[in-house]
Amino acid sequence: MSRLVLAIRPCSTLPGPSSSASVMPSATMLATMWLQRTGAVNCCSRLALISAGSVWKINEIFHSLQGEGYNTGTASVFIRLSGCNLHCAFCDTRHEEGTMMSLPEIVELVMQYPGAPLIVLTGGEPSLWINDEFVMGLKQMTGKRIAIETNGTHPLPDGIDWVTLSPKSGIGDSGDFPVVLTSCDELKVVYLGQDLAQYEGITATHRYLQPCWVDDVDQCRRNMQATVKAVLDNPQWRLSLQTHRILGIQ
Ligand code: SF4
Repeated sequence: MSRLVLAIRPCSTLPGPSSSASVMPSATMLATMWLQRTGAVNCCSRLALISAGSVWKINEIFHSLQGEGYNTGTASVFIRLSGCNLHCAFCDTRHEEGTMMSLPEIVELVMQYPGAPLIVLTGGEPSLWINDEFVMGLKQMTGKRIAIETNGTHPLPDGIDWVTLSPKSGIGDSGDFPVVLTSCDELKVVYLGQDLAQYEGITATHRYLQPCWVDDVDQCRRNMQATVKAVLDNPQWRLSLQTHRILGIQ
């Protein structure tokens, strides 16, 4: 069987892979280390996960700064899973394409950036595809904290350290899958003038309103002004900007 290779796109403005990548354990070694560390070597189901070659469709894996919300400025490795159940008009990701990858193959790419403390699972809608084994294996094999950016329409597996809920259902013609998550670490709403009362039932440690970024410069400015006004009028929310766009990084 031919081995699938993901085209990784590290940010050109950030350092490339560390020299430590050259001595990085192989995917098989990482899997073995995980099995030994977790005791899963004696657990048929987990061993089967590795040996049977469970795979996930990965759109891209890249190293950059988290550009939005509470963790803005944090060096992170982003794992973008392919596919989403919504179709937002303002969607800024081309997530449809992807390569089927096993967990050890994903870890091998993630560990090209050993210094990044955070993995951000994004998409598409990552919650549609991941499970407990994916999250646990990723944590154990990388030693990194796991964050997720989700539209909240699907339950999350256990073990995620930071949940960013960004509901999109019902905004414009995004789609009408109901939001099933009721709590999160941060609630990050792309603001298009919608009634903020609809989010009052969601428990969140941090609440952010983020202007909708569009290519039309004048419309973009109007969106920013409207979002600033909304935060001034509703100070339980704070402003989130897409700083990666301002900085011109991925
Ligand atoms: S939920 Fe996110 S990834 Fe899915 S279509 Fe909307 S903006 Fe794009």
